[in-house]
Amino acid sequence: MYPGRFEYFAPASLDEALATLDRFGDEGKVLAGGQSLIPLMKLRFASPAALVDIGRLEGLDGLSEEDGELRIGALVRHRTCERSDLLGGRWGVLGTAAPQISDPIVRNMGTVAGSLAHADPQGDWGAVLLAADARVVVQRTGQRREISLEDFFQGPFMTALEPNEIITEVRVPDPGPRATGSYHKLERRVGDYATAGVAVHVSFSNGSVGRAGIALTGVAPTNVRAIEAEAALAGAQLDDSAIEEAARLTAEAANPHSDVRGSADYKRNVVRVFTERGLRAARDAQEG
Ligand SMILES: Cc1cc2nc3c(=O)[nH]c(=O)nc-3n(C[C@H](O)[C@H](O)[C@H](O)COP(=O)(O)OP(=O)(O)OC[C@H]3O[C@@H](n4cnc5c(N)ncnc54)[C@H](O)[C@@H]3O)c2cc1C
Repeated sequence: MYPGRFEYFAPASLDEALATLDRFGDEGKVLAGGQSLIPLMKLRFASPAALVDIGRLEGLDGLSEEDGELRIGALVRHRTCERSDLLGGRWGVLGTAAPQISDPIVRNMGTVAGSLAHADPQGDWGAVLLAADARVVVQRTGQRREISLEDFFQGPFMTALEPNEIITEVRVPDPGPRATGSYHKLERRVGDYATAGVAVHVSFSNGSVGRAGIALTGVAPTNVRAIEAEAALAGAQLDDSAIEEAARLTAEAANPHSDVRGSADYKRNVVRVFTERGLRAARDAQEG
């Protein structure tokens, strides 16, 4: 199917993009990689009057570490993350997730920020960046604000973004020198959305867990953190019983439904197994 009629804008600056969004209000949409928005428009699930293409804006494609914090510009593609040497070690939860997102074509085009703005409960970056305690930097004309991802996701495909706002950057706080993490995704075939996914990001301090971030994909109306499991791990030795208890609490935090990808019980069990796997990998990395 073809999309409905729309006006297309390719602003030369962020200010111009924001001013164009101001003009169209609810009727305007930001276009980044187009990997979620264009399919929706073709299916006529979205029919914006105006598309504001931010793809050519300069200065939004940086992926860097500054003062220990990770900064991901709005135009950083999945592929950039997949190929980045920066995203190993203490940023391993991001580095292991990137190659698991869809297929090379989508990874070449789609952006991390676009994935967050789309807020698909089956989006992988939402879980990864919740586990890493990230926040988004958002701009509108004359105003800038930061929103924790916790507050950003408000429901399936719903966020705290106003129609005239653009995410300019994603920021991930410094997890300290002894951090590690990984992302575990079950998919029916390569390139599919997650049947279930678990992101694990652990900072160690004096041999025990300082902060543990655990978040889930595809098993709740939004990407969600397993808050009780995280709290149980804080300050704990990462031994077998702590891992098993955290995995049990994480499975309880999942609220999946049965669908073509599997039954609710099956998905909850996948979450438990993947959490154990992620935490054991974190322990191995810390000991190694
Ligand atoms: C076949 C296929 C398979 C896929 N599989 C997966 C998968 O396995 N895992 C996964 O996580 N994702 C998957 N995706 C989605 C993909 O990751 C998209 O790239 C991503 O969801 C959106 O990024 P984008 O840059 O393409 O955004 P766009 O499609 O351009 O935009 C998506 C939404 O975000 C808004 N938006 C984009 N950027 C900004 C910004 N900077 N500020 C404010 N609003 C913004 C747009 O207005 C729109 O509402 C898949 C997509 C396809 C087509």
